[in-house]
Amino acid sequence: MAKESQVKSSEKTPPAKPAAEPAGMETGARPSLTSAGQLMPPADLPPGLRQKQAQAVQGVAGNQTVLRALAKDAIQRQESGGDEQPIPKLPDPEARRAKALEILKKAYGGLIKQESKVNGVNSEAELRQNYDQSMMRQGKVFRESDDSTRPWQAGDSSQHPQMSGEFPGFYDPSSGQIYIDLGKGPDQQVATLTHEFLHANAAGDFLSTLGKTIDEGMTERLAQQAFVKNGYSPPSGFFAGAVASVGRLSGMFGENTMMYAYFGGTAVLRSTMDAVMGEAIFDRFAREMRRNNQGWLAIFFRRYEQALQGSEVDKKIAAINSLLDWWVSDADLDHIENIWRGVVPDQKPHIRAAIMPRITSLSDHGQRARLRAILGS
Ligand SMILES: [Zn+2]
Repeated sequence: MAKESQVKSSEKTPPAKPAAEPAGMETGARPSLTSAGQLMPPADLPPGLRQKQAQAVQGVAGNQTVLRALAKDAIQRQESGGDEQPIPKLPDPEARRAKALEILKKAYGGLIKQESKVNGVNSEAELRQNYDQSMMRQGKVFRESDDSTRPWQAGDSSQHPQMSGEFPGFYDPSSGQIYIDLGKGPDQQVATLTHEFLHANAAGDFLSTLGKTIDEGMTERLAQQAFVKNGYSPPSGFFAGAVASVGRLSGMFGENTMMYAYFGGTAVLRSTMDAVMGEAIFDRFAREMRRNNQGWLAIFFRRYEQALQGSEVDKKIAAINSLLDWWVSDADLDHIENIWRGVVPDQKPHIRAAIMPRITSLSDHGQRARLRAILGS
């Protein structure tokens, strides 16, 4: 999260800045939903995909849940509308904690289950001391500039290159408690607490599967949306790039899909992503996101847009290209073979012409021969 955690908006002055944990911090959150039956499928797919994908989702989740999700989504869209108030400047720390929980519960209801204890400290220096202790309790390592690692030590948060920015609070998974700097503005503290309470309520596999960037982007996006749903101006500034990426993913796979993946576990995102993209791509997506591979993410977005806008032939070319774009496995060639089985004879020359030039990009001769055989069949 090197880049993201340092992104702050200097042009505009937000009403309050959200929390920003430094890189390396983990949430250690607990699952909030106990069974897949509580999950709702995505209802807010983009118009071009909604009809097609509603069928795919119905296959996964059943008609009743789809209808319920569609109704709920329509209600949510009507709720937010203009005239937002600034976040209140409450003088009492306990009132700020209660306000953050109230904001989250109004937005996310029963998904908010963990009401973590909040420890207020009197300075950022004291906050960093607590952070160092949390990192040591969790057995975290400090990465030196030469990429070597050693156990985290007291004082490290002050010299970590990605922690030089403002540091308003953090969630400590080792104790299940939140720490916050009481020296920050009272409105900023509400924004920080809202963000940190979300970490405390996230599904255990969200961060571990999708990595720090998607986790922070989604946490901050959910915090911003909670403020809007409560009629307050959303905090903005930190994690801007990650928030934007998660916004695009929400447009592709549905706001509800992303929300339930965050609170209930990533299975719903896996099913939806694979259905929408027409290929089993979730595992690769997750792997590249854990590495924070922004180049791969850009290609992922582009392929999706091509698939959405293009003809049947364009979609198949895009799907095959996406499988060939990075390191190619035998499973990728299995997928290509499956896609090719769905190609009708008059489409074959067009797709063959688009893919053939890429055969030489495969370093493995066996894979080259296999791809040539697939495209020749
Ligand atoms: Zn965070």
